[in-house]
Amino acid sequence: MATLTTEKSSHPTPRASGRPVPGLIFGDLWEYDPAPETADPKLKARYDLFIGGKFVAPASGKYFDSINPGNEKKLADIAHANAADVDAAYRAALQAYDGAWGKMAGRDRAKYIYRIARLLQDRAREFAVAETMDGGKPIKESRDFDVPMAAAHFFYHAGWADKLDYVAPGRRAAPLGVVGQVIPWNFPLLMLAWKIAPALAMGNCVVIKPAETTSITALKLAEIFQDAGLPPGVVNIVTGFGDTGAAVMTHPIAAKVAFTGSTEVGKIIMRSLAGTEKKMTMELGGKAANIVFDDAPLDQAVEGIVNGIFFNQGHVCCAGSRLLVQESVAADVLAKLKHRIEVLRVGDPLDKNTDVGAINSKEQLATIQRLVASGVKEGATLFQSPCKLPVRGYYFRPTIFSNVSMSHRIAREEIFGPVLSVLTFRTLEEAVEKANNTAYGLSAGVWTDKGSRILKLSTELKAGVVWANTFNKFDPASPFGGYKESGFGREGGRQGLFDYCKLA
Ligand code: NAP
Ligand code: MG
Repeated sequence: MATLTTEKSSHPTPRASGRPVPGLIFGDLWEYDPAPETADPKLKARYDLFIGGKFVAPASGKYFDSINPGNEKKLADIAHANAADVDAAYRAALQAYDGAWGKMAGRDRAKYIYRIARLLQDRAREFAVAETMDGGKPIKESRDFDVPMAAAHFFYHAGWADKLDYVAPGRRAAPLGVVGQVIPWNFPLLMLAWKIAPALAMGNCVVIKPAETTSITALKLAEIFQDAGLPPGVVNIVTGFGDTGAAVMTHPIAAKVAFTGSTEVGKIIMRSLAGTEKKMTMELGGKAANIVFDDAPLDQAVEGIVNGIFFNQGHVCCAGSRLLVQESVAADVLAKLKHRIEVLRVGDPLDKNTDVGAINSKEQLATIQRLVASGVKEGATLFQSPCKLPVRGYYFRPTIFSNVSMSHRIAREEIFGPVLSVLTFRTLEEAVEKANNTAYGLSAGVWTDKGSRILKLSTELKAGVVWANTFNKFDPASPFGGYKESGFGREGGRQGLFDYCKLA
């Protein structure tokens, strides 16, 4: 199975449950044995499109490779859907909507959604391994976060399907019809659940396209739809590149489109749909500020900052990629952060001890490298974990930039990698000014002992989510979405259902 080629910690403090190795120098005293997850991901060599409840070959006959970014090995062939395939998917969805699904009572739809959640739980380990191999995220994250959260979204929305009269009391919520959805590669299975579960709860049918680098768990979920007996055509999965995504977003049958991805592509889609009657929701990029005041519990804040930017290799739209720290504690916080990233374990995503896994693709690694080079060129101070990186695969050292100014590209652009930019502030007003001085507005974090300050900042920060004394916390009942160029519409909670219905 997997091999581990991680570094020995350069920090002299023995870490956690490591095993002493006799005869090594003090800094090498403690090291973990490799602990690869061994569950069988049950991958097929070739994945076809999922249309009308069946796996079908693409009209073009073309397939592309899905790669394991942890070791650059090919995992499977994935079908490339063209406009004819997308059209077939929409026709299957419309047929299901006009047929069994559209006429089904909410309490019966709930049973299918509930069954999907249960079947996903039954195969949780297998899905976690597949997600980690295809996308590069550490197994402990896919196992403990992505897969359970995806199941939780199906459970939560199963609970809504027979209670739609309470979505907007006094008004009747009706489905929209067929919805088209396109998602990115950072949370492949979880984004599927975010998109599909509310759509089905409301009685819609779906055509969805996963990202080209992470299609496998979507097609494994299609197996679950079959096992759950979901009527054919209720969910259709078309894989491919940007051209497939564009065909999904612009198809005339789509009553609504939901997109999660970059602001750049979101704008292209919005332009192409201008003047149509399609409903739209856009979940786009972010450049979140994590604000640390001098009265914050600093060790706790440091853990939150580390989680906020190094979780999932920083492939998180709401990542706390900008740290705003009050000047009086800045040196202390920076020293603690450096110490902390030195002992993060970077390497084989399948190893249960890995903290930071592989960057999702070669292209994304190049983007991160480019932006980090710009930070150095523009005069920020670079600090990187001295860890050894595996020889094969796409990896990037956890990185902290200090002496960053607001004009630097690393303070303004989304890096989408394990790179933190540290800025300082003196007063609350300055912190708010700097935090809001961005085109984005997806999330923010506040670390302080003062409740009044938290309440004030939660209204003054222009961000869809403001976490206080914590970061990256999610719950299916809690709506998520952006301000400004981070998009519009909400996913999760009662508010998320509004975007999948018409109210009469
Ligand atoms: P991306 O390039 O915008 O791609 C997202 C999806 O759109 C992929 O499935 C992609 O297909 C597809 N696509 C590409 N061009 C398209 C077009 N012209 N029309 C329709 N679809 C098209 O974004 P990404 O780099 O994969 O993902 C990272 C971005 O997503 C970041 O900016 C991140 O902040 C954002 N994100 C936001 C949220 C949120 O909730 N706000 C959540 C997660 C990620 P291919 O994969 O084949 O290119
Ligand atoms: Mg892949």
